[in-house]
Amino acid sequence: MRIAMVSTECAPIAKVGGLGDFVQGLARELLKHGERVEVLLPNYDVLEGQHIEDLHEIGAPLRVPFHDRRLDCRVLSGKLGGLTCVLFDPLSEHRFFARSRIYGERDDAQRFAFFSSAVLEYLRASDRRPDILHCNDWRTGLIPVLLQACEQEPGMSDIRVCYTLHNLGDQGRVGSDILHQVGLDPASLMVPDRLLDPHDERMANLMQGGIVYADFVNTVSPRYAWEIQNTTQGMRLQPLLKTHRNKFGGILNGLDDGVWNPEVDRHIPVNYGPGSLPLKAANRRELRARLALEETEKPIFAVVSRLDRQKGLDLIEHGIRYALAEGGQVILLGYSLDAVITARFEGLRAELSASPDCRLELGYDEALAHLIYAGSDMILIPSLYEPCGLTQLIAMKYGTVPIVRRVGGLADTVFDAHYSDKSFEVRNGYLFDDPTPAGLESAMSRAFDLWRCFPAYFRQLRVNGMRGDYSWRQPAQQYLDIYRHMILSRAQSAS
Ligand code: ADP
Repeated sequence: MRIAMVSTECAPIAKVGGLGDFVQGLARELLKHGERVEVLLPNYDVLEGQHIEDLHEIGAPLRVPFHDRRLDCRVLSGKLGGLTCVLFDPLSEHRFFARSRIYGERDDAQRFAFFSSAVLEYLRASDRRPDILHCNDWRTGLIPVLLQACEQEPGMSDIRVCYTLHNLGDQGRVGSDILHQVGLDPASLMVPDRLLDPHDERMANLMQGGIVYADFVNTVSPRYAWEIQNTTQGMRLQPLLKTHRNKFGGILNGLDDGVWNPEVDRHIPVNYGPGSLPLKAANRRELRARLALEETEKPIFAVVSRLDRQKGLDLIEHGIRYALAEGGQVILLGYSLDAVITARFEGLRAELSASPDCRLELGYDEALAHLIYAGSDMILIPSLYEPCGLTQLIAMKYGTVPIVRRVGGLADTVFDAHYSDKSFEVRNGYLFDDPTPAGLESAMSRAFDLWRCFPAYFRQLRVNGMRGDYSWRQPAQQYLDIYRHMILSRAQSAS
C-alpha cells in the first residue's frame, strides 16, 4: 500500500505537540509493516533539517492556485530515518512558512490552505499517487474537499482519505474567502451539511469539511470519540459526527518506543526499565542538579504541557501550590503562544522563585522533557478535555505515576490505584472527576499518602505503568485495517 500522511507537524523535525509524535510514530510503525509511507509537510524555516538526509528538489515547481493567480512552490524530498519526507516550499513574497514558528500567525488559515492546495497539485502532477491520503486536523481539512472537487480527473478518485481529529477545540473557523483562495466555490459549500460553521454562519469550518468529505474519520481515543458525539466536548460538531457515525471511530495513539523508552533514551544519564527501577534515582538526582532543586526525600510532581486553557490552567496552578504545601517538590515545563497565559505563569514563577522546591521552566525543551519524565515521581494532568494525551503514556513508560482527570484518552489509559475495576497488575495512576481544586486534591492526597505510607505499593504502581503496552503495534494495525477497508469498498463500488 502507498500511504501519504499529510500533516503540519512531524517529530523530530517540526513538533509543537502530540500531532508531531503521532505522525512520526504511526509512519514509522507502518514502515515496519512493509508499507510505502511518505510524510508531506510545509518546509518551515524552523524545520530541523539536519535530521533529513539527501534532501533534493523533485520535478518542476508546482503552480498552486492562489485567488486569481498561481504561485510557484518547490517540492523537496529527503529521508528521515527510513521515512520519505516531502516538503512544500512556496517561492512567493508571502513567505508562508518563513515565520520563525510553526503556528500562531494572523494568516494561518491562508498559509495552511496554500499548503493543502499545493498537496493537491502534487497529487495531480504525480505518476505514483498514494492509495491512502491520511490528513490531520483542520489545517489539512480542505484536502478531502479539494480532492472531491476534482474526482472526475483520471486517477484522482482512486485516492482514499482517512482524516484524524486531534483536537475539536481548534476547528479552523475561517472566512469563506479561503475557499476562493484555493479555487473552490463558496456558494455550493457554505451550507450546513458541508462547510458552513455551526457557530457562526459567516464562517467556513475546515474541520467540518474534512469530516464531510473524507472516506473515514477518526479521533485519537475511543472515549473522546464518544464524548465528542454525545457531550459538549463536540463543540457543536456533535450532530455532524452523529450523521457520519458509520464512518467514524476512535483509535488510541501509541508511543514510538525508539523515542520514548527509558531503556534506550539518549537524553537521560542512566537508562533503566521495569527490572531496574532503582536506577531511576540517578535521573532524579540529575534532574534536581540541572534545575538547582534541593536534594531531599520529597517526591517530585511534574507538569509537562502546552499551557492552554484545555490543560486546566487553574488546576495546574492549584496543584503546584498544593504539592508544595504538602511537602513535595514541583517542576513545570510549559509554553504558550498566548501572552496573557505566559505572563500569568511568569508571575507565578516570580512568586515561587525563592522556593528551593519549585522550578517553573517556561519554554519548549525536548531534552529537558525527557529528563523530567525520567526523574519525577508523579505527573499532573488535570485537563478539561484531552483527546488522547501522550504525556501520561510517556510518564508511565518512565515509571512516573500520572494523576489525571477522567476525560478522553486519559480515562482510557489510566486506571486508578484504589477505585479501578481492573486487576491490581494494571492499575497505574490516579483519577479524579470534578475539575475543581477539591477534585484534584482528592487524587493528589491519595497519591501522596501512598507514596509516604506504602512505598512498596507505590513502587508497584510505577512498575505496572512501565509494563503497559503503549506501543504503536496495535493502533497501527487498526489504521491498516481501516485503510484496507477503504480500498476494498472503493473497488467494490467501482465494479
Ligand atoms: P498536546 O498535543 O495537546 O499538546 P499531548 O499530551 O498529546 O498534548 O502531547 C504533548 C507532547 O508535547 C508530548 O510529547 C510532550 O512531551 C510534549 N511537550 C509538551 N510541552 C512541552 C514542552 N514545554 N517542552 C517539550 N515538550 C513538550
